Amino acid sequence: MNILVLNCGSSSVRFQIISTDLEKISGNTDRRLARGHIERIGGEAIITLETEGRAKQRTSAQVRDTRAAVEFIVRWACSEEAQVDGVKTVADVNAVGHRVVHGGERFTHSVLITDEVLRGIEDCIELAPLHNPTNIKGIQAAREVFGAGLPQVAVFDTAFHQTLPDYAYLYALPYQLYRRYRVRRYGFHGTSHRYVAYRYRQLRGIPREQTNIITLHMGNGCSAAAIRGGDSVDTSMGLTPLEGLVMGTRSGDIDPAIIDFVAAKEGLSAQAVETMLNKQSGLLGISGLTNDMRELLAEAEENDDRRARLAIEIFCYRARKYIGSYLAAMGGADAIVFTGGIGENSAEVRALVCKELEWFGLEIDEERNREHTNGREGLITRDGSRLAAYVIPTDEELLIARDTVRCVLGAPQRY
Ligand code: AMP
Repeated sequence: MNILVLNCGSSSVRFQIISTDLEKISGNTDRRLARGHIERIGGEAIITLETEGRAKQRTSAQVRDTRAAVEFIVRWACSEEAQVDGVKTVADVNAVGHRVVHGGERFTHSVLITDEVLRGIEDCIELAPLHNPTNIKGIQAAREVFGAGLPQVAVFDTAFHQTLPDYAYLYALPYQLYRRYRVRRYGFHGTSHRYVAYRYRQLRGIPREQTNIITLHMGNGCSAAAIRGGDSVDTSMGLTPLEGLVMGTRSGDIDPAIIDFVAAKEGLSAQAVETMLNKQSGLLGISGLTNDMRELLAEAEENDDRRARLAIEIFCYRARKYIGSYLAAMGGADAIVFTGGIGENSAEVRALVCKELEWFGLEIDEERNREHTNGREGLITRDGSRLAAYVIPTDEELLIARDTVRCVLGAPQRY
């Protein structure tokens, strides 16, 4: 089956076309036929397109809204020029899989989208006011472009973390806030944590039940997950993706009293302070330079910039503290898995995160660590290290395509 995977954001749409089915899933022979990215939707959009085995092309075009973006993608994918193998007309796309950010407590797995499911996603808008509406727009756009008959599947960022026990997902707040409004930890990046956990057990050749690891997704957004017996048992993001690790522009954990204090001092509303915590904090806030880790590492190296160094140090320190707390929460783990743009590429950040973890038996192999960049997967600790560390590039789109196939065929889902 050819699956169109869509990740619709407020002003961008990412897509992939993946050829997969149950046989390909078990043989790991899925094929990525095409991929691309439309940014700055609403005006003159910047478009990147790539067909398997061919060079990436960049172009621009007027793209009014999400629907126009989906139309553009389909028109391009079916064109002579794109040469997407096996995709000549709209009918060659067999299903669409969507990344949906928030599934609340209702969606514990991926689901075939019906009107009722769509209403359920709408009900979660209050939990993710910035994300779920754009995801819904993507679903509606695909319905309009492909017709209501084409199966569509929703894959939720929160679903993998629905196995958290109550003592891990509840905040120590008046219980009625949970009862009335479902205020609790949901966690995000679930598809990424789930994918790297799946790859880890494939690499090790172990069953799901023996998968006891801590996964660190470190990109522009960052989160950690404690995975015991294959299930997510704790994670660092909370009701929203603001909690937890230090991120590109997000603060991660802070004392909640800071919000009122800063609001009073700066004459801001609580909402304006929250925006500050989301958009002007994290690596950007500390360094005053950039939210981009690569640039910060270069600044620290080339110009010995004090605040760039501090931002990197705080980022790594916080990640290390999470590892320590999850090792305690899980009663130990077998491995730490790094993923996301920073986790996959920066040997320096990985080494800093792991620096004080020798006590837990983690021995980084410097050469292996250095060699694992640019999508290279594998072990970065010494042979015999009691706590291992791996780099595993994430692939959320692949899981979305596979979930879509399973939902369409009514096959059991694998989490
Ligand atoms: P993502 O959101 O997963 O695309 O990750 C984006 C982050 O990864 C940015 O902070 C990038 O600077 C960072 N990143 C990408 N490549 C590297 C690299 N080679 N070294 C350090 N950070 C990198």
